[in-house]
Amino acid sequence: MQPTIESDVPLAGFNSFGVAAVAGQLATLGDEREIPALLDWCRSDHPAHVLGAGCNTLLATGRVERILRVALAGRRIVAGDGERVLVEAAAGEDWPALVEWTLAQGLCGLENLSLIPGSVGAAPIQNIGAYGVELAERFDSLEAVRLDTGERRRFSRADCRFGYRDSVFKSPDHRGWLILSLRLALSRRFEARLDYGDIRRMLADTGEPPTARAVADAVIALRRARLPDPAILGNAGSFFKNPIVDGATRERLRERHPDLPTWPAGEGRVKLPAAWLIERAGWKGHRDGDAGVHDRHALVLVNHGHASGTELLALANRIRESVLERFGVRLEPEPVILR
Ligand SMILES: Cc1cc2nc3c(=O)[nH]c(=O)nc-3n(C[C@H](O)[C@H](O)[C@H](O)COP(=O)(O)OP(=O)(O)OC[C@H]3O[C@@H](n4cnc5c(N)ncnc54)[C@H](O)[C@@H]3O)c2cc1C
Repeated sequence: MQPTIESDVPLAGFNSFGVAAVAGQLATLGDEREIPALLDWCRSDHPAHVLGAGCNTLLATGRVERILRVALAGRRIVAGDGERVLVEAAAGEDWPALVEWTLAQGLCGLENLSLIPGSVGAAPIQNIGAYGVELAERFDSLEAVRLDTGERRRFSRADCRFGYRDSVFKSPDHRGWLILSLRLALSRRFEARLDYGDIRRMLADTGEPPTARAVADAVIALRRARLPDPAILGNAGSFFKNPIVDGATRERLRERHPDLPTWPAGEGRVKLPAAWLIERAGWKGHRDGDAGVHDRHALVLVNHGHASGTELLALANRIRESVLERFGVRLEPEPVILR
């Protein structure tokens, strides 16, 4: 079986920034039986860049020679012994739809991760997280194939070396792995994770008992109120990671900025809110043509219409330089940047 291969494909509809770029060739994997032919295609020319739903990708170039899209579908309960239930989902499934499906099955664990846009296959790449929960906590294992050698392997949680918006798949020697499916360890028993005060407050306001469904609804409402919808205003969610610094840096910053919030990040280090640094550096609501910073969320870069990937990247770089100059703190982008 052959994967679908198209030429000169416009990519504006395949990235949440809505940036116009073209793929010289775009291969779509819709069935695992197409993998042998896909491996031949991958080995025959330029390396292919893997794209899920494009919600964490900045296309900072007008043309990408080869794109590989994963459209593998399917989700099922693999095993369940009492409380613990193992769920498997194919990489091309939509993450928010998977979360809703697990809730409909009476399974708990993903509610705090509701409405994070993107595909299932991309979720482990940056260990998606929101409202006090990270994918790693619900992760059992994943199945992947290496695009250069064809080796197939199951990765355990330890193998994935998850960190804050990080995994082994971001390291140069692991970039050739194509994730085919994920297994998640969920539970029939609900354990509320209300570390984020806003969820606690919303549940109290609605008067609803804290169920997984109620937490998911609170998270969805909070996200809809805070983050711009990419279908209306192109964006990739948070553009920068929250920087982690050592205790000495925190003391230095606190002397000059006593109101700087910090959170413990282990081993004497602290996490700083990138949004606070960017806002204090004066970038909130800033606009360079159609490339801008959201006016309610300083961490979100937006495409007001026709910004190119290069323009968005130039704005991101100016923000990084200004935060470095003002606070001595280096910001790292969260999305994958294709140049
Ligand atoms: C409005 C908005 C809000 C967001 N909020 C959050 C949030 O709260 N928390 C959070 O963590 N993220 C958030 N994000 C970022 C994004 O949702 C996640 O990173 C998501 O996992 C991206 O999925 P994707 O399929 O769109 O990835 P893509 O952008 O398509 O790809 C991202 C990376 O994963 C790789 N990849 C994709 N699929 C595969 C595969 N099958 N095998 C191997 N590599 C693969 C790609 O090569 C690329 O390196 C947000 C984004 C938006 C637009």
